[in-house]
Amino acid sequence: MLQPSHRPWSKVSAFLLSFIAAGLLFTTAAQGPITGVDSIRMDELRDKVTYIASEKFKGRGNGTRELNMAAEYIAGIFEKNGLKPASGRFFQSFEMYTSLLGTNNDMRIQGASASEWKLTVRTDFIPERWSVNGVVSGPMVLVERPGSSANLKGKIAVVKEGRGLADDPEFPENAATGHSLEAEGAIGVVVVQDPSDRREGEIAALAEAFRDDLPTRIVPMSTMDSPEYPKIPVVVVSGDVSKRLLPLLMNSQNKVEATVTADVNRKTFTTQNVIGLVEGTDPDLKKEVMVLGAHYDHDGEAYGQIWYGADDNGSGTAALLEIAEAFGIGSMKPARSVLLCAWAGEEKGLLGSRYYMSHPLFPLDRTVAMFQMDMIGRNEEHGADESEGIPEERASENGNTMNVLGSAYSPDLKAIISRMNDQTGLTLRFRYDFGAQELLQRSDQWSFLSKRIPAVFFFAGLHPDYHTPRDTAAKINYAKLEKAAKLVYLAAVDIANSPVRPKYIKPANGR
Ligand SMILES: [Zn+2]
Repeated sequence: MLQPSHRPWSKVSAFLLSFIAAGLLFTTAAQGPITGVDSIRMDELRDKVTYIASEKFKGRGNGTRELNMAAEYIAGIFEKNGLKPASGRFFQSFEMYTSLLGTNNDMRIQGASASEWKLTVRTDFIPERWSVNGVVSGPMVLVERPGSSANLKGKIAVVKEGRGLADDPEFPENAATGHSLEAEGAIGVVVVQDPSDRREGEIAALAEAFRDDLPTRIVPMSTMDSPEYPKIPVVVVSGDVSKRLLPLLMNSQNKVEATVTADVNRKTFTTQNVIGLVEGTDPDLKKEVMVLGAHYDHDGEAYGQIWYGADDNGSGTAALLEIAEAFGIGSMKPARSVLLCAWAGEEKGLLGSRYYMSHPLFPLDRTVAMFQMDMIGRNEEHGADESEGIPEERASENGNTMNVLGSAYSPDLKAIISRMNDQTGLTLRFRYDFGAQELLQRSDQWSFLSKRIPAVFFFAGLHPDYHTPRDTAAKINYAKLEKAAKLVYLAAVDIANSPVRPKYIKPANGR
């Protein structure tokens, strides 16, 4: 599951700096019983988690050959169990990148004074690491927020940071803002800090993201073919520049123009979701799909240590593979199709599932529901969460508990999962749908839920080894993991065979 500090919209990049400075841190009844479920076994889950979280895969960092090796392993198990490659192959390949600062970044402002005001890259301004490259020149116009303003055609929009529509917390807010302003005609975007809300060292922190010596677990990444990003240059200016620039722009008598050159070098690499299809048997219903997902990437290695990611997310990946075997071994042929998806790029902002949503293998309106398995193998242990009214919990109390997140958006899914749990006997907790930790937004189910597809997140909960090198295979509760994998399999088959689709409902307090 995605860590808050790695969330792309996180503005607390000083946190990033401190990491670097420290150097090291850390059936339906009608169809009869569902067959195949007995093939999901804890000893096999233990073998799989131990393998996925072994030294061999070095923590499955994004952009590493070990992640590609893990993808081959997953595809091999899909193939052996008779799953079909939905798109002709098991890999849904896509490009990800890290960014380096180019040498041509430049920004000049005319009209501020008699002479030209030339800004210095890295101290006065910096392009966003996902900005397109190019030179734009035109009048600067201060806009209150996207959608609020006059004609932006041919103009460089200047907008205060934090004024965007943050309806998708897993997406960089400035990119969402830039995208909206581009749609209104802007040729470039300058993001300014509100001088009353100045974050010290913001520009320096953004510059850190361009370093080429960061370990994979820290360096920010994006997806190349992503329609949500603006296609115009977007730069951020410092608090000091904002302080001088904003008063100039607020006086409409001033004619302030700028020339902005953004130059970002993308270091691209190919990665992949691994997707296997269990084809439905009903001639009509087979065109609809139930999606099961688990991300298989994690944090990789750094400073001579491996972040093994046994729970995050060896547990969900192993469960997905046992479910592939259950479909392979059983005579269970669901009416609807079922898609098993091992996502890449989750730890970098749900990038694999986001890519899938813009390149789906079944139409989204025929995607009936989605289950995500992420961190389903440990006993929850954490301090109190006041925003959710949840007290401190100890691991010893949580040997058989499983959180199910997202049920507020689909009471139908809650009912199905509760009913199927009669066969698995977990202590289910339908919670964490809201609250300050935004847990529901922090794994791949959110990519589906934000597009109004009923989706839930199976999540055993946080623990002190979360995103540390101590998340190892020996610490997994395999009896719990077996129950969770069985429950996901049973509920997925039930949905795939049901004559009715589960409904999506937007709760009053939901995003
Ligand atoms: Zn994670």
